Amino acid sequence: MPAARVPNLFLRLCYAALGLFILSAQAQSTDDTRFVIANARFVVLHEMGHLLLNELKLPVFGREEDAADQLAFSAFFVLPDYRDDPELPNYLMDIARYWRAQGARIKPEKEKIYSWDSHPFDLQRFYNLACLTYGSDPANMKWVLEETGLPPERALYCDQEYQQALHALHWAKSHFKRPQELPPMPISVHFEPLAHQLEAERDFIEQVKLSGEIEAIAARASNSFNLPRPLSIQAMSCSSSDAYFDRRNGEIILCYEHLLHLRDIAKLVP
Ligand SMILES: [Zn+2]
Repeated sequence: MPAARVPNLFLRLCYAALGLFILSAQAQSTDDTRFVIANARFVVLHEMGHLLLNELKLPVFGREEDAADQLAFSAFFVLPDYRDDPELPNYLMDIARYWRAQGARIKPEKEKIYSWDSHPFDLQRFYNLACLTYGSDPANMKWVLEETGLPPERALYCDQEYQQALHALHWAKSHFKRPQELPPMPISVHFEPLAHQLEAERDFIEQVKLSGEIEAIAARASNSFNLPRPLSIQAMSCSSSDAYFDRRNGEIILCYEHLLHLRDIAKLVP
């Protein structure tokens, strides 16, 4: 894999990245910082995937969880700030590494994934994301195969999987594009007060807020798609590490505990 470098994102010193840089100052290294940013983005984009699938009534052949992962992954190749970052392959591999670490972690009962679950197993997500990353540029991404152990039997078709995922997002963007004459339907972002038990993490959560990353993703979706109703992202304390889309209320719930969990996992990843 390419040598680790200080993420280009920080060199640009844009406001959002600066915020997340400070946010991740509690992480141990620039690699940890990149890991937290990559995975925080992926979590929000994955939930945005659920939002779009449900609000736009996008056709889904297969499991919604897989579709949301593919939407989130593809967004990294569509959003200019992410797509044009030379660190993109490393960001994507950080997301895959998260799922490998999750697969290796001994989990409490409520976090376990069973065969009947609507979610894929952690290691399936790891290999799916490794495959899509490799498939995005097989000629230059052979290091992904070495790092992940993705076997040739799967790697052979990863370029096609990548093209399929990207095509789906482009199709959705063109078929559900917001007409220029219509104002964007808002996706508002609210940061709820911190629960007492998270008081020690106030600086970390404040920097998530300051980064403006969540608002940027919400604004992008709001501007791009012809959404049927006002929607929102609620960042809050939940007493557990979670993130989900509440279809009935049209809300993405992003638990502060999940952001803290990403930071904890960063320390476990070699
Ligand atoms: Zn999901």
